[in-house]
Amino acid sequence: MDITKQILRLNYAGLPIEWINYQTAVRLYCNNQVTYECGDSSLTIRGGVSRINGLQSKIKINSIIATKNYSKVSYFNYTPPLTNITLFQRDAKTCIYCGDTFNLKNLSRDHIIPLSKGGEDKWMNSVTACKRCNNLKGDRSPEQANMPLLAVPFIPSRIEYLILRGRTILADQMDFLLSHVPKSSLIRKRYK
Ligand SMILES: [Zn+2]
Repeated sequence: MDITKQILRLNYAGLPIEWINYQTAVRLYCNNQVTYECGDSSLTIRGGVSRINGLQSKIKINSIIATKNYSKVSYFNYTPPLTNITLFQRDAKTCIYCGDTFNLKNLSRDHIIPLSKGGEDKWMNSVTACKRCNNLKGDRSPEQANMPLLAVPFIPSRIEYLILRGRTILADQMDFLLSHVPKSSLIRKRYK
């Protein structure tokens, strides 16, 4: 792996919590916060040369690291922030109305129940729609517009969210994440 890759950080219980960059990982190693490693890949970072023995310091960072004392907040009671990018990823860049796949600039966030009709700007009321379908639907519900949803919206779990947000996920990291995702997860269809 190289320094552009993200490192998957686990909590003390071994559950994935976040992506971190290599600088943050170095700090965790130096502060003795890393309790164990469980990835197959690693990255060696070279530091300064010691004035005492002339040796260059180096630190080997694993692709998946478990760390101490992370966050007392409930692990499973978590709603990830809703952004267009993660919403489009959740829906596999596919328009929920016409079923075609688009690139990001032709996609939009549609509110199933329009905001003007009291709908909320939340995961369960938000779907990916191509701009054309979104315009066509306008300020109406799917029933009123006669445009049924081709898939159901869902709130990604913390782990599903890590999968949606990963920039370039290494094979060992993806295997690890998927091993913590239920068999029934809709995310699986997209990443198998
Ligand atoms: Zn469409």
